[in-house]
Amino acid sequence: MGKKVYMDNAATTQTKQEVINEMIKYFNEMYGNPSSIYDLGRTSKRAINKARTSVAKFINADEDEIYFTSGGTESDNWALKGVANANKSKGNHIITSKIEHHAILHTCEYLEKQGYEVTYLDVDENGVVNIEQLKESIKDNTILITIMFANNEIGTIQPIKEIGKIAKEKGILFHTDAVQAVGGLRIDVKDLNIDLLSMSAHKINGPKGIGALYVKKGTKLDNFMHGGAQESKKRAGTESVQNIVGFGKAVEILEENFDEHIEKITKLRDRLIKGIKDNIADIKLNGHPVNRLANNVNFSFNYIEGESLLLYLDMEGISASSGSACTSGSLDPSHVLMAIGLKHEIAHGSLRLTLSDSNTEEEVDYVVQKLVDVVNRLRVISPLKG
Ligand SMILES: *Cc1c(COP(=O)(O)O)cnc(C)c1O
Repeated sequence: MGKKVYMDNAATTQTKQEVINEMIKYFNEMYGNPSSIYDLGRTSKRAINKARTSVAKFINADEDEIYFTSGGTESDNWALKGVANANKSKGNHIITSKIEHHAILHTCEYLEKQGYEVTYLDVDENGVVNIEQLKESIKDNTILITIMFANNEIGTIQPIKEIGKIAKEKGILFHTDAVQAVGGLRIDVKDLNIDLLSMSAHKINGPKGIGALYVKKGTKLDNFMHGGAQESKKRAGTESVQNIVGFGKAVEILEENFDEHIEKITKLRDRLIKGIKDNIADIKLNGHPVNRLANNVNFSFNYIEGESLLLYLDMEGISASSGSACTSGSLDPSHVLMAIGLKHEIAHGSLRLTLSDSNTEEEVDYVVQKLVDVVNRLRVISPLKG
């Protein structure tokens, strides 16, 4: 049997066994509807509230500020559409960045069609949003600033505290997509002046299809789902109890081992970056050299097609991701790599490797070795190399 190395943890992560063990109970004996008043229902309700406490504590929010959703995408959609709708009388201008996840960008495009005006901020060559441009973009009718905490492709961490301060001074709501950040950074929504924050469980070793939106008390936000009275009448639909329990457990595990977890992943990341830099010429590390997620490595390799790189690595048992929107069958290079100023052909030769604490040094060395082989082979036959 060939070796299998998973280095695509920004796409999704493996659900931890301890998480699954907790979840199974809520499929088996504890299957009650949390809205039911008998014991079985109350058991489910208690489990949800325990998870809510864990999630709230993790970002220094209060329990009644956490609403469970179906994931990061729903949280992003809800935050943007909900704020836009509820604050229409104040204005119709939204500020975001060019490197957001599609859950934000496509929602913004939708809102533009509904008559809202959206400013897309530029980023510098490291992927950091232009703060001066942010200040200049603020108008009397600006109702929302939405800037991601850390980027899913290049790992760049944004100056969130600075942005939160600007938003607060101007009385503008501030949302951040923290789906990638929660697994890698300590987040304190109060200290950072965040009004709304999106999370997702499957990026932190929890189950897929569950996430949360943090909404600061008093924030004007329309409902997104209409129906029953669940989640304090803010998000209707029978709660996905087992998923919520799994999300809570994933957060608890992360919280318990946070510093060791980050230290381990950072070491692996730096070993991987060094291994690639020391052994392959004509490459570029994408994203911020220092302010980047502990698990993110993103390189461009001159004269190479990212797609071919992925296929060859896959044959060696390595799961990774490219810089182009290959998964959607599109040949367009990533909007993020374009925004940091890469040329088309360079962006096309990009590779993202994202680590978890299940990866080992041995795996890192194996990936470096295979990458050196594959890059050399592809460069020999490359029509791009003059
Ligand atoms: C994965 C991801 C999302 C979407 O989350 P889902 O739970 O998969 O819907 C949103 N934003 C970022 C930055 C992500 O990485």
